[in-house]
Amino acid sequence: MVETIKESFIRFLRGEFDVRESGREISFSCPFCGDDDGRHFSFNTVKKVGHCWKDSDHAFNMIGFIIAYKKLDYYEALAFLSGRKRISSLDSLRDKIRDIKLLAPKELKIEDTHFSVALPKKSVSLFDDIVPNEVKKWFLKRTDTLSPKLRKKVIDPYFCLDKNSKHLYRVIFKLECEGNTSYLSYNPIKYGKKTYNPPGNFNSSILGFYKFSKAFPVIILNEGFFDSVRLISYGYAAMPLFGKYISKTQLLLLDDVSPFEVCVCLDGDANKDTVKLAKKLNSFLDCRVSYILIDNKKKDPDKLSKLEFDILFSNRKTVSLVSSGVF
Ligand SMILES: [Zn+2]
Repeated sequence: MVETIKESFIRFLRGEFDVRESGREISFSCPFCGDDDGRHFSFNTVKKVGHCWKDSDHAFNMIGFIIAYKKLDYYEALAFLSGRKRISSLDSLRDKIRDIKLLAPKELKIEDTHFSVALPKKSVSLFDDIVPNEVKKWFLKRTDTLSPKLRKKVIDPYFCLDKNSKHLYRVIFKLECEGNTSYLSYNPIKYGKKTYNPPGNFNSSILGFYKFSKAFPVIILNEGFFDSVRLISYGYAAMPLFGKYISKTQLLLLDDVSPFEVCVCLDGDANKDTVKLAKKLNSFLDCRVSYILIDNKKKDPDKLSKLEFDILFSNRKTVSLVSSGVF
């Protein structure tokens, strides 16, 4: 089993400090207070946050603790805790990521990937009385295989009523990933541009349904939002890339959750890109990489029945581990 971030963090605490462990709490001398009298810093292993009893400024989640204590940046801290072979080769990890081709043609710099993009103005909940029933029906149809409970848990739909906005009468999906937020603006009508992203390529630094899907051993990567919704409704874990490419940040996010397997399943017209992406992922990630080719140009994962997808999934191809070393 691959060590989780939490396990790695606890191992680090045990090795670095004189810890006392009691129930869910691990306490030790606060390294940010600068004195040694007592165990003022307490880390809660359930909430995965820690704080100092003497100074309320000394409060961190696991990544924050490592950033402050080891004076690393976010991704270095992430790499430190996700550990494995990269603990000793942070620089080469960064170099490796910089060198990757076949990534999103345009994306944020890794250094710029802390952001919070506000939803378009006058976005109300899609379930608000003011939203036309046709729109609600459209949404329920697109997500008809998803249980109401999951629909509420994994999707946060809005509807834009701003007459001065290009988002007027569009459905807005709030995207959240590791503290970063953005949105996808979706046209529920057949004509017109299907999706608008916020300006600035923020979505290329987000993996959709990250929080929901990251705990699963197998993660499926799709192009579109509704593809992943469909597969989640069938009991799989899926994350949309919002395109055919994976960005450096998305790669780091995926690496961070250390799934047992990543399975690429792009749209039916993207077989070549699917294989390319799977091979690239295989040369980077420490997990099994597989892919699914939907042999029908007209079909996206969203359009497959559960039976059709189950069959495709059980026949997915694994990228040979031998074929790595592209870099
Ligand atoms: Zn302190």
